[in-house]
Amino acid sequence: MRQLTVISGKGGAGKTTVTAMLATMANAVIADCDVDAPNLHILLKPKVKETIPFYGGKRARILKEKCSECGLCVELCRFDAIKDFEVDEFRCEGCGLCYRACPEKAIEFVSEKRGDIYVSETEFGDFVYALLYPGEENSGKLVSEVRNVAKKIAEEKEIDLLLLDGPAGVGCPVIASLAGANVALVVAEPTLSGLNDMIRVVELAEHFKVKPVVAINKFDLNTNVTGKIEEFCESRGIEIVGKIPFDESIPEQISQLKLPFEGKAGEEIVKIWKELEGLL
Ligand code: SF4
Ligand code: SF4
Repeated sequence: MRQLTVISGKGGAGKTTVTAMLATMANAVIADCDVDAPNLHILLKPKVKETIPFYGGKRARILKEKCSECGLCVELCRFDAIKDFEVDEFRCEGCGLCYRACPEKAIEFVSEKRGDIYVSETEFGDFVYALLYPGEENSGKLVSEVRNVAKKIAEEKEIDLLLLDGPAGVGCPVIASLAGANVALVVAEPTLSGLNDMIRVVELAEHFKVKPVVAINKFDLNTNVTGKIEEFCESRGIEIVGKIPFDESIPEQISQLKLPFEGKAGEEIVKIWKELEGLL
């Protein structure tokens, strides 16, 4: 099965907008792996068909009625997560040491529900996304689960393409979204920080043997930095699949799901999709 992951190194480069526009053209199962800041569902207006609970990693919990207050767990916890014989769930790293060491078996080590995965239908195909509970951190496990649910749907329906909106950054969740991808579309914005972010994700994709290609979003807002992005890509043999001009009608066109997309930016996205189809 082919997989295209859209990444950008940080939020705000237009990654989700580009993913939504590609989703309207691709025969794909779509998934939002940007689980810390999911917003593709706002654009694609899904109808939820199924909700799957998501359980995160295990955390410790002290059963007061069994605890003799010997203090061993407090001493052993390297993360200072136990105070007054209570576990601070935000500090607990789930190593399980206290659970194994407690002489009174007064510590539970349990998985708790941390959010939900939604399986949905949109005008453009099946779509999987997730929402974490407030304050919960994404470790990459949820990204892998979202991707696996999308893959299963694609297999059942014999659709041979996954289109993933990847998380921002270069951490564990991005790596999880790149796993198994044929192509990583890096959406870059023409600012100096955008250039640095792009370089970091390009190198990450290459490290994991995923072919990176670049689309420069709003390229005409800073032709100087656009030139630097082009120089970098040329020096590394990375294809630039398109340069999208600034077009203030795009957010509105997307929010109305008005097809076909109009204007030069819309035309460029169509061209980008044709390029990507040839590469996947
Ligand atoms: S090790 Fe067990 S018994 Fe001792 S303080 Fe911790 S929870 Fe209580
Ligand atoms: S599971 Fe590990 S991190 Fe969590 S409270 Fe116990 S010793 Fe500390």
